[in-house]
Amino acid sequence: MSRDSVVDALRIGRGIEAFPALKRVAEEKGLQSVRPVLTMVTAETEDFWAEKARSMSKTTLETYVRDLRLERRFKTASGPEKVDMHWRVRPALAKKLAVLEKRADFEELLQEFVDTVEAREVPTAVANGSRYIPVAVKREVLERTGGQCAFPTCHRSATSLHHTQRFALEKVHDAARLQPVCTAHERIAHLGLIEGEEGRTEDWVVLENQDKNHPKYYVDQFVQLFRHNAVSSSP
Ligand SMILES: [Zn+2]
Repeated sequence: MSRDSVVDALRIGRGIEAFPALKRVAEEKGLQSVRPVLTMVTAETEDFWAEKARSMSKTTLETYVRDLRLERRFKTASGPEKVDMHWRVRPALAKKLAVLEKRADFEELLQEFVDTVEAREVPTAVANGSRYIPVAVKREVLERTGGQCAFPTCHRSATSLHHTQRFALEKVHDAARLQPVCTAHERIAHLGLIEGEEGRTEDWVVLENQDKNHPKYYVDQFVQLFRHNAVSSSP
C-alpha cells in the first residue's frame, strides 16, 4: 500500500466513523465502495446511502451522486436564470454563430432549430421477434447522441442500448425509446432510478427511490443477474 493510499484509507475511515451502516458496507465491499457518499451522508440519510453503496459499484455510485446533486440544483434554481453553453464546431460555423449570437431574437432562432430537429425525427419501431436490435435502428439511435451516453449531463461513450420500456415487457425495438447509455447510467436505469426514462432525455429526473410496484421492477431484478458489457441490447 502506497503512502497516498494509506492517507486516503484513513480519510475514508474518519469519514464513516459516525456512520455504523456505512461501516458495515465498507467491511463487506471495501473502503473505496463508500467513498463517493462521504460528502453527502448525514445521520438522517445514512441508511439511504448505505443501501445505495451496497447496490451500486463505485463508478455507478459516483455518477449517481453527481446526478442527484445536479437534480437538486435544478430543483432549487429560482427564476429563468441563463446558463452558459460550450460547443465545439467548425471555425467557419463558429464565426457565423458569433455574429448570429448578437441578434435580439437569437434564443427564438435556437428554439426554431430545436423544433426543426424534433419534427424531423420519425423514430423507427421494429418488432422482429428477436431481442437483437436491427442494425438500422441501432444506427439511428447511436447517431442521435454521436455514440455518447444519452443522459443529458453525461459525455461518456455509450456501452449499451437501453430499452427504456424494457424489451421483456413489450418485445419491440422502438428507436424513440431506445437510448444509448454508459455503463453507470445503464445500472442507474435498471435500479429504477430514472423517472420518465421513456420520454425525452431532457425530461429525465434522477430519483432517490425506485418504484417497487412498477412492472419494470421485476424485469430489472432479473437484469441484475444477467449483465452485458458490449454495445448490445438489454431487456
Ligand atoms: Zn452516462
